[in-house]
Amino acid sequence: MKFGGTSVGDASCIARVAEIIRAASRENDVVVVVSAMGGVTDKLIEAATQSEAGNRKAVADIFAELRQRHDAAVSMLISSPAEQNRIRQEMQEIFEEGDRLCEGTILLRELTPRTTDSISSLGERLSAPLLAAVLAQHGVTSQAIEATELVVTDSDHGAADPWMNPTRELCEARLRPLLLRGVVPVVTGFIGATAEGVLTTLGRGGSDYSATILAAALDADEIIIWTDVDGLLTADPRLVPGTCTVPEISYREAAELAHFGAKVLHPKTLRAVMQCGIPLWIRNTFAPGRSGTKISPSGPTSGGGVKALTAIGDLALITVGGPGIVRIPDVLGRTFATTAAVRADVLLISQSSSQNNICLIVSSAQAKRTVEALRLEFAQDLAHEKVEHITLDPAVAIVTVVGQNMRGVSGIAGRTFCALGRENVDIIAIAQGSSECNISFVVAQKDMKAALVTTHREFELGHCKFANVAPSVLT
Ligand code: ADP
Ligand code: ASP
Ligand code: MG
Repeated sequence: MKFGGTSVGDASCIARVAEIIRAASRENDVVVVVSAMGGVTDKLIEAATQSEAGNRKAVADIFAELRQRHDAAVSMLISSPAEQNRIRQEMQEIFEEGDRLCEGTILLRELTPRTTDSISSLGERLSAPLLAAVLAQHGVTSQAIEATELVVTDSDHGAADPWMNPTRELCEARLRPLLLRGVVPVVTGFIGATAEGVLTTLGRGGSDYSATILAAALDADEIIIWTDVDGLLTADPRLVPGTCTVPEISYREAAELAHFGAKVLHPKTLRAVMQCGIPLWIRNTFAPGRSGTKISPSGPTSGGGVKALTAIGDLALITVGGPGIVRIPDVLGRTFATTAAVRADVLLISQSSSQNNICLIVSSAQAKRTVEALRLEFAQDLAHEKVEHITLDPAVAIVTVVGQNMRGVSGIAGRTFCALGRENVDIIAIAQGSSECNISFVVAQKDMKAALVTTHREFELGHCKFANVAPSVLT
């Protein structure tokens, strides 16, 4: 069971989480993965960047606030003074580590990805012992464990990936004996360590991925991602009114939604379970009686067509095009070798058939360096051309329509584009590709919300049609 930041946002939320775990642990062996308290990771990253800028006062203020917030939770949740002292001491040591990391950064005025990981991991390292102590108070024997002892990763700081074989061995050695003794391990989400023991993070929102990694390593029966909404919804509820819970969806569809921006799941969450087929539930910590969404290897047996929509904003469209381009040999190979060299994450590609126009979408943050690198790459080839061949539209969004067997349901693209046309939303680029479960299109950032609302209405996604199915645990 994984509990996200909003599920452990304050003392009353944490008490609620402890109750959910207590109920589940009466029937099942449970491993808990916990995120930092909501907003804490943002603050830690801010402290790291303020340290790099040398703003000692700003860093001190952030840490004072974080100390106060955790301290208040301890006071509210732990009644025994001895236990309060013990947990406060443990937290104090973690905060002191944070002070030293920030002080080192202030002195050097340099923030490496490795240091960013160490600073941003402090939130989970604080919340896990806190939740374990609260569980003990609720009569559940538990133990906080840092995932650096369990999840072995590569050294790609900020976006690390697990090495499953050593991870499996460590989980068997460390977690299985606890489960056999009826102890509930409370593991820090978001973090891992290289084989040499250097702390890494899996990326923002990565606790979902931590949960599936541990579940795969232990060959779990089920994974439950507890969050602040009723499951996977037909669209982002912050952007589209009247969304519904999708009762069941396939791994593939859920992976597409996560990849194309549905924040409820980290984009890599399903990777860890693709091969073992463990069912995953998304459920609401604040309404635990509702069954939420089941994500299963092949999804429900009936019902094709559109299931849900998602969007990613703050993107940039780079076009490599124009009359001069067609004469350049290997323009495609060189374009993508260049984006790879600057580590730009290309989210969507579309190309005109004459090969003289390639559109690619990257995040706004990566746009400038990608355009500069492409201009440099083709500078010699285009030295005599009078027009700029590599252009940038800095404010676009990708909207993605997801559903299984969409290839078998004719007219989905047509209906989408007609509806958007009626609302005067211009489509800048389209990618359907070979994937049978998504169509993505690019619109101006300012049109993103209208595109989502219109498509949601067109496919009647706001009409909740299916009866929910109860999960096998916690009924
Ligand atoms: P947690 O702290 O539990 O990890 P997140 O904030 O990372 O929670 O993810 C849950 C949020 O994702 C929801 O509150 C919702 O606003 C947002 N969200 C975006 N798209 C969707 C979607 N399709 N279904 C459900 N939630 C979504
Ligand atoms: N605490 C981390 C973050 O805010 C990981 C997570 O919440 O999943 O990104
Ligand atoms: Mg999350």
